[in-house]
Amino acid sequence: MDAARSSPDQGCFFVTGTVCEVIVDLHVPDVDRVFHYTVPPELEGRVRLGHRVLVPFGHRPRVEGYIIGFGPAGVPRDRLKSILALLDEEPLLTPAQIEVARWMRDRYVCPLVQALQCFLPPGSRLRSGRTARALRQKVARLADPPAAGAAREALARRAPKQAAIIQVLLENEAPLPSAELLRRAQAPRSALHAVVQKGIVIEEEQTARRDPFHGRPAPHARRPHALTEDQQRALSRIREALRGGEPRRVLLQGVTGSGKTEVYLQAMAEALAQGRGAILLIPEIALTPQTVAYFRAHFRERVAVLHSRLSLGERYDQWWRIFEGELPVVIGARSAVFAPVKKLGLIILDEEHETSYKQEESPRYHARDVAWARAQREGAVLIMGSATPAVEVRWAAEAGEALWLSLPRRVHRRPLPRVETVDLRGELLAGNRSMFSRTLSEKLEAALDRGEQAVLFMNRRGMASFLLCRECGYVPRCTQCEVSLTLHDPGILRCHYCDAAHRLPEACPQCGGPYLRPFGGGTQRIEQEVKRLFPKARPVRMDVDTTARKGAHERIVEAFAAGRFNVLVGTQMVAKGLHFPGVTLVGVVSADTALNLPDFRAAERTFQLLSQVAGRAGRGERAGEVVIQTYAPDHYAIRAAAAHDYEGFYRAELAYRRRTGYPPFSTLVRLVWSGEGEEEVVRAAQAAGAAAAGDLRSLGVEALGPSPAPLSRLQGRYRWHLILKGEGEPAIEAARRIKEAHEATGSSGVRLTVDVDPVGML
Ligand code: ADP
Ligand code: ZN
Repeated sequence: MDAARSSPDQGCFFVTGTVCEVIVDLHVPDVDRVFHYTVPPELEGRVRLGHRVLVPFGHRPRVEGYIIGFGPAGVPRDRLKSILALLDEEPLLTPAQIEVARWMRDRYVCPLVQALQCFLPPGSRLRSGRTARALRQKVARLADPPAAGAAREALARRAPKQAAIIQVLLENEAPLPSAELLRRAQAPRSALHAVVQKGIVIEEEQTARRDPFHGRPAPHARRPHALTEDQQRALSRIREALRGGEPRRVLLQGVTGSGKTEVYLQAMAEALAQGRGAILLIPEIALTPQTVAYFRAHFRERVAVLHSRLSLGERYDQWWRIFEGELPVVIGARSAVFAPVKKLGLIILDEEHETSYKQEESPRYHARDVAWARAQREGAVLIMGSATPAVEVRWAAEAGEALWLSLPRRVHRRPLPRVETVDLRGELLAGNRSMFSRTLSEKLEAALDRGEQAVLFMNRRGMASFLLCRECGYVPRCTQCEVSLTLHDPGILRCHYCDAAHRLPEACPQCGGPYLRPFGGGTQRIEQEVKRLFPKARPVRMDVDTTARKGAHERIVEAFAAGRFNVLVGTQMVAKGLHFPGVTLVGVVSADTALNLPDFRAAERTFQLLSQVAGRAGRGERAGEVVIQTYAPDHYAIRAAAAHDYEGFYRAELAYRRRTGYPPFSTLVRLVWSGEGEEEVVRAAQAAGAAAAGDLRSLGVEALGPSPAPLSRLQGRYRWHLILKGEGEPAIEAARRIKEAHEATGSSGVRLTVDVDPVGML
């Protein structure tokens, strides 16, 4: 590593006589490496690390590139081509960001250029179809305000329109956009032209910023809460970490309603007081106007927002204002982890266990890990907040790698809701064939009678259908991988990790009963059943189908909050961050869909989801109640969720992970082959698996599969996957070699994607 890239202080590294290491923006496999260029005399002394440049490349006269270092070329200088131009005055990439991009390339097996581009303004790439541009507009101001009064008098009779323009400008301290000025003065363009000619008014170009707040001022600040003792204790440890100036990871584990948000806010205030910037990451779905308003009320006009609902132009302008240091506080979804905040002091991940922090297209990064990679290189503190920390994060805290702070109580000591688990195995025996147990039916009816609201929740991610015995709750699982088997071909049960196949048993192996059935049923059916069985119910449904249209999600939330509906039926969408004081009953129609996904994290997801859903009840004055329906009432994830017992869950889950060797006791890498022809996909996957066998053995990496992916056909493409399990570096190295071999063969319409630390296994 040379000095130019290892030290952040070397950002203004001036070069003479050296050559530049350039990464070019072409997404072709063998172009993903450094190319060398010389600096032409006219750019001598101006080219710096992190600059965007234009370079000639192969037959292409101009290609965008990024300077990631300086050094010897290894070939004579006169054989090298020269940089054509600098694209910006200032380098857009800092040395630390280039380092993080290198880390991403190594960790996620992605092209370096893709990682670098995460740090650049959105949509600004030359080759991109939709190119965002700065909006330039003309603005007008008075050349000499004290003298303008007299000028207006002189013109009042002869040229009233010109006088009107001067009058409007006199009433306005700041320059006005010309169009706005003409509208207010009710004057034609020619009148403005005339006063400009006379030297009374100056018109000039200015870059206009598109504003995601549309000019709405920040809401008024409420008085800050006096912190509880728990909050105070956590905050002072965070302050210490910030003052230390060293990179630090913090797990803030606080039950729902314990006031984590207030701690975030005050931690950000501390970073700002030190003259540093802060990034707050929130799961996309929780990034509501109310959340943003809460922080704007405190940090006023210094807040930037970045999320996918902004227009490209708005995101582009926010990016530049952050880059220029105007907006030191950034609130955003996953990709805001790359925001060009100056002197970054603090990154916060709220609900750090959320799956939406993982990007499901290349580069397949996890925002939590990128945040830590950044914090380490920029001397920042990373706070990971959650009521139900990811097992990996909690494990890191236990191992001393992260500072562990907890908020064990709710603010105001509001009680957590009472949770009752209903064993569905008893319902069939009692002659109840409906989706609602007798307990849930009674409680729902009572709540509706009292004029209260209810949420009915169903996880519908389980598109792969697993089998479940309706009498004893037995679910067939793979003896080797311990994930549920899936009904694949008629009569055949398959493991989607190792591809083991089993004949479908005629009767349940556990109880001998005849009711071993595929498990299903979606939100739509629940809605119909609610209408049929409960005359007082006015149900509304929230799932991917009803929220596809822009703004639909918000409309459903508002209508339900306003009381126009009294039952909200939904998928995991309803579990996240919603606050409905009128809800006194939450019913989990089936906890089993999540529990039986063919994924080693199924139990963890179930626990997190149930805890979160339970947190929706009793947010108001009246106490809340939760009913969980399940065929597996004794499963540790369900027992622990019902008892609000994270510790109990974590201990049991950690034992399972240790026994099976899943993360955090290993690193997983998932390779997915996909294509339109089934045969080619199967052949590519099997050939790669066979070819890699020797490599895997020598690296000490275990391979599960290849096997059909649980979603074995997606958007017309067949999918097979192979799961590598081993120590971090070797498992990633094995994946890299398989990918390189795949690219070397220039494969026939089969695509291979590498997913390191996958969060979804479907
Ligand atoms: P969490 O994010 O931990 O679930 P919140 O930050 O949403 O919890 O806080 C829950 C509620 O408690 C919010 O309405 C918040 O305004 C309020 N709150 C937070 N801290 C305090 C405090 N110190 N005193 C009074 N109310 C508080
Ligand atoms: Zn298996």
